[in-house]
Amino acid sequence: MSVLTLADVYRARRRIEGRVCRTPLVESPSLSALARTPVYLKLETVQPTGSFKLRGATHAVARLADQGCKRVVTASTGNHGRAVAYAARTFGMETTVCMSSLVPDNKVEAVRALGARAHIVGNSQDDAEHEALRLTRDEGYAYVPPFDHIDVIAGQATLGVEILEALPDVANIVVPLSGGGLFAGVAFAAKQVSPKVRLTGVTMERGAAMHASLDAGRPVQVDEQATLADSLGGGIGLENRYTFAMTRDLIDALILLDEASIARGIVHAYRQERLVVEGAAAIGIAALLDRALPEQSLQRGPVVLIVTGANIDIDQHRRVIDAA
Ligand SMILES: *Cc1c(COP(=O)(O)O)cnc(C)c1O
Repeated sequence: MSVLTLADVYRARRRIEGRVCRTPLVESPSLSALARTPVYLKLETVQPTGSFKLRGATHAVARLADQGCKRVVTASTGNHGRAVAYAARTFGMETTVCMSSLVPDNKVEAVRALGARAHIVGNSQDDAEHEALRLTRDEGYAYVPPFDHIDVIAGQATLGVEILEALPDVANIVVPLSGGGLFAGVAFAAKQVSPKVRLTGVTMERGAAMHASLDAGRPVQVDEQATLADSLGGGIGLENRYTFAMTRDLIDALILLDEASIARGIVHAYRQERLVVEGAAAIGIAALLDRALPEQSLQRGPVVLIVTGANIDIDQHRRVIDAA
């Protein structure tokens, strides 16, 4: 028995329609030539808040609005908080975003610019999450978690449905992996529609909590470290309810990349694809450039790389490009 059904995903899609973009799926000639199979980029960079997080956040917030909720709180490395703030405002709700001191300034400012309160606490995603849960307990806020919530997962899963509609013969989907809300949702929807699709998760070597947890066979904590893929930082929660088990059951391969490789992905996106992307979003491109996807997988057919977000600090982006 699954906690999610394909019907839930289609319902989520109807609920968020008109509030979230149906994003373009474009072929990359340079990556297709390299892989010797068609490679497509799913451009979540064009979402109004610059990342796919708007899907899950909008769906979760819509469900809370249906219940008469007026105030929401979340903890986030930036993109989720931004998405919740944007979505909540469209429903006339107030937002408080708890986030750690590791979150880059551009992301904090973006949250404030959306009319939300940015509440900076602690040095890790876990500290921020504890504070969000305290506000939920003591001050009557509704909590919108970044990944481990069935409404959030159903929202992210709409991406999987869109990919299969645009490219029914897709053989590989490559998904940046952190807490696993995106992976669980996309993998679930894609495999429901087309069971032969292969799902590859990609994450960074530095502080990948889901990877450590899959190795350990249960959710474990890892030390958070600075990385170009800062949107992939943070724990998966020791009390993880959904995304750990779903990721474990649906993942076909997991690739870990170092910082130099992630930088090459950002540079390739800029020079060859004319895209400004953040490290977390460049990681699929980086995996392909590194030839980390096995030849055997590529021979199965078309590849979709989910380009998850554009929210990189623009000075950091310039430094990465200049150093290349
Ligand atoms: C959150 C995020 C991810 C990872 O999503 P999870 O659901 O946490 O695995 C990937 N890329 C970007 C840009 C993100 O903001």
